[in-house]
Amino acid sequence: MPLLKLASPHPGSHPSLVSALCLALGLAAPLQAETLKLTHFQLVDVEQGRVLQDRQMLIEDGRIVRIVPATEVLVADSSRDLGGRYLMPSLWDMHVHFEGRELVEDNALLLPLYLAYGITAVREAASDLAPEVMVWRKQIAAGERVGPRIFSAGQKFEGIDSLWNGDLEVGDEAAMARGMDKLTAMGVDFIKITENTLQPELYLKTVAEARRRGYRVSSHIPYGVSVAEAANAGLSSIEHLSYVLRLGHQDEPEIAASVRSGTLEAKEAAARYRDGFQQPLADKGYRMLAAQGVAVTPTLIGGYQLANLDATDHSADGFLRYLTSAFTDKYSWRIERMGEQTPAQWQARKQKYQDEAAQLSRLDAAGVMLLAGSDSAALNTYVYPAEGLHSELQLWQQAGLSPARILRAATLDGARFMGLEKDYGSIAEGKRADLLLLRANPLADISATMQIEALIQGGEFHDRAQLDTWLGNAAAAVQILNTGRRGI
Ligand SMILES: [Zn+2]
Repeated sequence: MPLLKLASPHPGSHPSLVSALCLALGLAAPLQAETLKLTHFQLVDVEQGRVLQDRQMLIEDGRIVRIVPATEVLVADSSRDLGGRYLMPSLWDMHVHFEGRELVEDNALLLPLYLAYGITAVREAASDLAPEVMVWRKQIAAGERVGPRIFSAGQKFEGIDSLWNGDLEVGDEAAMARGMDKLTAMGVDFIKITENTLQPELYLKTVAEARRRGYRVSSHIPYGVSVAEAANAGLSSIEHLSYVLRLGHQDEPEIAASVRSGTLEAKEAAARYRDGFQQPLADKGYRMLAAQGVAVTPTLIGGYQLANLDATDHSADGFLRYLTSAFTDKYSWRIERMGEQTPAQWQARKQKYQDEAAQLSRLDAAGVMLLAGSDSAALNTYVYPAEGLHSELQLWQQAGLSPARILRAATLDGARFMGLEKDYGSIAEGKRADLLLLRANPLADISATMQIEALIQGGEFHDRAQLDTWLGNAAAAVQILNTGRRGI
C-alpha cells in the first residue's frame, strides 16, 4: 500500500492528533477542510434553462457537496446569505489570445480582470506569447497568480511566411511532425490551425496528425479544403462563423478542389460563395457538422465592431482604462487594413455581419455545439478582453438565441468541449464551486451577466469589493506602464 500524503487544504491550521496518528501509521488523514454554506440564492440551472427558487449549498474543499432547499438544516463552519440573488456557473471564454511580444505585462495585468468579469476559464487559441502563457497557466493552477484557468494551444500551425507572428510555420509533413513534438513538449491543451499560407493537403494532414495524437483541433478552414473534408479529417471546432457559410453553396466541394489545384483564386472562390448561398443547403451542412461532432465558435463581436466603426465613438469606452496605449496602438492594424471605405462598403460590411449572425439560430436548430468566445486580442480592434465575452453573448441574443441557450454555450458546453463536464459547467453536487452571483436574472436578459455581485472560484468567495480591487489594480498598473514608457 503506497504511503498516502496528508491533505491539509488550509495551510496554517495545526495538524490534529488524529492526523499525526494517521501519519505515523501511513494512513490518509481525514480532511480538515472548512465548509462554507451559501444560503438564499436562486439557482440558475443552465442545463434545463430554469431558475430554482431559494436554495442553499455546502462547499467543501473547492467543490459543491450538497444542494438543498433553504428550509433544510445544513451545518457548516461559515455561512453567507446571498440575499435572493442569482447564482450561475461562472463563464468560460472559449476563444482569446494573449499576444504582442512587447505587451507581456500589458497582457499579464488582464488576467485578474477575467475573474472580475465572471470568467474562470479561457481557451487561448495560440499567440506569440506562448512561453509566457504557459508560465501563467502553471502559476494560476498552482494558486500563485490570480486569473482564470487557461487552456492553451501554444503556437498555431501555419504555412511558410504567413501573416502572423510567433506561429509554427510548416511547409511539409516532417516539419509538421516536429511542430507537434514541440507543442507536446510544451504541454499544450489543444491544437490550433489557421489558413493564411498553409497548403490544403498539409492542412488536412495536420488535423489528422493532431487527432492521432489525441488532441482536440480548433481551426480556420482554407479555401482549398471543403468544410466536409475538414470535418472528416477530425476537426473539433471551427473558429469564426464565416467559414460555415460556404456550406450553403451547391458547388462547395468543386470550388475547394479548384482552389487546391490552382485553377481558381481564393478571391474568386469568396465571390462565388457570397453570390451562391442557399439556406437549405447550409442547413444540411450544419446537420453534417452536428453529426460529426464539430463545434462552432461564432466570434461575432470582432466583425460587429469593425462593421460599425463608422458610426461608433469608442473614445469614452470604460474598458480602455485597463488597456495600455501600447495595447490599443495595435487596434489601428485592422483599421488600416480595411482602408478608406465608401458608404456602400460600410453598408456591405454591416450586411455581411447580419448575414453571418442570422446563421446562429440555424446552426442551433441543426444541433451544432456552439462555443462562446470573444476572440479578444490586441490585434482584434475593440474586442476588449473579458468584457468582450459579455458583448458577444448580447450579440447572440440580438441574433435571436434565447438567454438559456446562450448561457449553456458560455458555461456547460465549454466544459463539455474540453471533456471536463464532470467537474465544471453547471451547478451540481460534486462539481467544482466556480460560481457567479448576479443581481439580475440572466435567463430573462443575457446582459444580466454584467451585473456581477460576487465570484466564487474553487470555493473561494470574492465579493464585489474584491473584484473592484482587482479592477483598480489593473487600472493603476496601466498608468504606471504608460508613464514609464513615455520616458518621463
Ligand atoms: Zn482568434
